[in-house]
Amino acid sequence: MTVAAAELLDYDEVIARYDPVMGMEVHVELSTATKMFCGCTNEFGGEPNTQVCPVCLGLPGSLPVLNQSAVESAIRIGLALNCDIAPWGRFARKNYFYPDQPKNYQISQYDEPIAVNGYLDVPLEDGTTWRVEIERAHMEEDTGKLTHLGSDTGRIEGATTSLLDYNRAGVPLIEIVTKPIEGTGERAPEIAKAYVTALRDLLRALGVSDVRMDQGSMRCDSNVSLKPKGATEFGTRTETKNVNSLKSVEVAVRYEMRRQAAVLEAGGKITQETRHFHEDGYTTAGRSKETAQDYRYFPEPDLEPVAPSAELVERLRGTIPELPWLTRNRIQQDWGISDEVMRDLVNIGALDLIAATVEHGATSDAARAWWGNFLVQKANEGGVELEALPITPAQVAAVVKLVDEGKLSNKLARQVVEGVLAGEGEPEQVMTDRGLAVVRDDSLIQAAVDEALAANPDVAEKIRGGKVQAAGAIVGAVMKATKGQADAARVRELVLAACS
Ligand code: ADP
Ligand code: MG
Ligand code: ZN
Repeated sequence: MTVAAAELLDYDEVIARYDPVMGMEVHVELSTATKMFCGCTNEFGGEPNTQVCPVCLGLPGSLPVLNQSAVESAIRIGLALNCDIAPWGRFARKNYFYPDQPKNYQISQYDEPIAVNGYLDVPLEDGTTWRVEIERAHMEEDTGKLTHLGSDTGRIEGATTSLLDYNRAGVPLIEIVTKPIEGTGERAPEIAKAYVTALRDLLRALGVSDVRMDQGSMRCDSNVSLKPKGATEFGTRTETKNVNSLKSVEVAVRYEMRRQAAVLEAGGKITQETRHFHEDGYTTAGRSKETAQDYRYFPEPDLEPVAPSAELVERLRGTIPELPWLTRNRIQQDWGISDEVMRDLVNIGALDLIAATVEHGATSDAARAWWGNFLVQKANEGGVELEALPITPAQVAAVVKLVDEGKLSNKLARQVVEGVLAGEGEPEQVMTDRGLAVVRDDSLIQAAVDEALAANPDVAEKIRGGKVQAAGAIVGAVMKATKGQADAARVRELVLAACS
């Protein structure tokens, strides 16, 4: 199904007549070792229904036990979003039937979320920031995964078979909900995307989730409404579900603005409903929205309230890293590199590796040269990510040190790194085992110099006659004879000395 252009208002006209209001709901799966309320492995991609137990299957008599590490991640997310952390809060049961949810209720935090009233200062492309206010971040459990077969769309309509995988049931989830985002005007789609991007980067820096939108460990629902320009009351919103890439966030918001405006212009009303986002860039109506009453929320009787101590919260506050984009700006200044070079380093995933190499004592230029040139080439050859290469920042720093100390030339250093990548051990070890160290022994170099001069008497004559430039040929011959292991500067000194 595609949508006729007439059903969409021109974006410029939308902006001329309406003010958009947005609200973003983002779900993130925490990368804890185990699930939220049981000891099952929390890992993506296992054989279907192998990571299950009576608790996450909702079998009679099974009882949930809260995952401490999930609570700590939730608190850290709340703190990173400048939220107040609730000193006490209960879980609730959200009751509804769906086959992906074997208990017939989801354990969630309803009106007692762990984190409330925060904000995130989101960096925009033009270098300014936009403050997005956070209403709450709460803990809940994920559902299982349904796969519908036999329909073109992969949706349940028209499907002939539905498969159920409960591996994901009970995976710890944090839902982060913004307050209404107002006053963005035409920048609404851009700001929505920038917010989700910033949130992803922040969660990644916190190390609480692998935030893979393509794998569903981060999922976004975007709420959009329009109000006539200058009006104070919000319009009716729609909630577009499962917008699963950063680009799609932007596309979904823009599409809904244009669709709603067309409905309003034609004298219609917006229905409060969920809508499905289609990868081709449009949305279709889903179910009309349930209200909170529909879910018959009540406090979960099988779990104790969550009551983090002030000490715990303060300890966790100490683990909150600097905002990743601020780190990036600072690093860029420290290293003195252009926006373009910075973007390249981010794209190849080299930033953290270079920073760690610098921490181990290398200069940023040397660290950048290794990771950004030689090693990224090796990674490409091997078809792996840079960080998956079997060499550590400490080892790269050790190679840089050997070069700085004059024990290795750049060329020899590359052979040492190749040895490390081949699993031959630490850089020093590889250097020794492969016999790569720069030859420091003057008598060895002297012998090679004498030999080269004897083999090239005409060149030797020129040098003796004062043509110092001619020494280069002899130095080259000596370097070749010593397989690059002589120190070129020292060779040159000895050549000139021999000819004076
Ligand atoms: P629900 O449970 O119905 O999804 P939530 O409170 O979890 O509701 O999320 C609603 C989101 O939409 C929030 O981000 C909220 O700020 C935002 N929002 C609320 N009213 C409007 C509106 N009229 N227009 C746009 N966004 C809205
Ligand atoms: Mg919601
Ligand atoms: Zn389980």
